[in-house]
Amino acid sequence: MGADIMGVAVFPEQAGSVHVTELAQPGPGPDEALVRVRRVGVCGTDKEIIDAKFGTAPPGAQELILGHEVLGTIEAVGDDVTTLRPGDLVTATVRRPDGCPTCRAGQSDMCLWGTYTERGILGAHGYMTESFTEHVRYLIPIPPKLEPVGVLVEPLSVVEKAYRQATLIQRRLAVWTPQTAIVLGAGPIGLLGTLLLREQGLDVYTLARTSAPNPAATIVAAAGAHYVSTRDTSFAELRSSLPNVDLIFESTGASALAFDGMESLGINGVLVLLSITGGNGRQDIPADAINRSLVLGNKVVVGSVNAVTEDFSSGVRRLSRFEHLWPGLTATLITERLRGFDDAHRIAEAATGGVKTVLEFDGSAPRAPH
Ligand SMILES: [Zn+2]
Repeated sequence: MGADIMGVAVFPEQAGSVHVTELAQPGPGPDEALVRVRRVGVCGTDKEIIDAKFGTAPPGAQELILGHEVLGTIEAVGDDVTTLRPGDLVTATVRRPDGCPTCRAGQSDMCLWGTYTERGILGAHGYMTESFTEHVRYLIPIPPKLEPVGVLVEPLSVVEKAYRQATLIQRRLAVWTPQTAIVLGAGPIGLLGTLLLREQGLDVYTLARTSAPNPAATIVAAAGAHYVSTRDTSFAELRSSLPNVDLIFESTGASALAFDGMESLGINGVLVLLSITGGNGRQDIPADAINRSLVLGNKVVVGSVNAVTEDFSSGVRRLSRFEHLWPGLTATLITERLRGFDDAHRIAEAATGGVKTVLEFDGSAPRAPH
């Protein structure tokens, strides 16, 4: 069993090196499944890897297969697998643990040593291939009715973890009934955060640069949140018009907004920072005022990255809730569809002016014999 399959790869040190390659696809081991790839989402991390700012090939390899947001169908399972069957839809988690204490305790998202691998990013091949094998512990079942949106579980898992962190932190309070939230940024993370917080019943204000109308503003409004363009309303103006801001998600990719968020956070509030900001930018910040407001307001600023299986599973349940509340809305985050291998060279320019680009793999390549 085993065959050569196609994949979308880069040479990690070489900017703009996206190309289609061939790699061996062994059959699944006893605890593994062979997953046929249907769809893979493109995100900012992929673009940074293409720009050679980030990303490493697996040990001994020259190329890195891209892609960490996947929806696939189980094609075959190993002899010891009882939890998944051929035909099941799945997504897969991204990070794989090292031997550190938190990884060993099942929290690779909080890895202490930083020597983890991440599929499609750091030291392990990703999912932009015809198929891949994976241990079933890293595969998350997706109900068939969620096929159109299942590729969004991975970005949603990042938001699920962020919300879980905020909820865990707020156990410091005898009572926490958040009413008002600000989401900074209206990319996929900001929009999924907006939907999650609306699903939780909060009054949500989503800030972005671009003026409405645009696809993100339409999604925000459809979920009953408020889209605020910073071209029309400054962050300071918005803050002064709101009651106590209980929760802020920062997902703009601009570190200055993290400090604006600290100033805007209400009493006992939590600011969750989600932007992985490249570069070495410096900011002139009102340090005394920010420090004073954090202390006097018992505020928490927390960074959050990646997610564990629990967050993927809650993301799947959350997508069902989204479909119930706003049928078809979540799928409108997918604003561009490219053909898996044929359009691979266009990944770097993906989703300009849109929200989420996906690569469609199903049927776009000859089926490898197994
Ligand atoms: Zn670790």
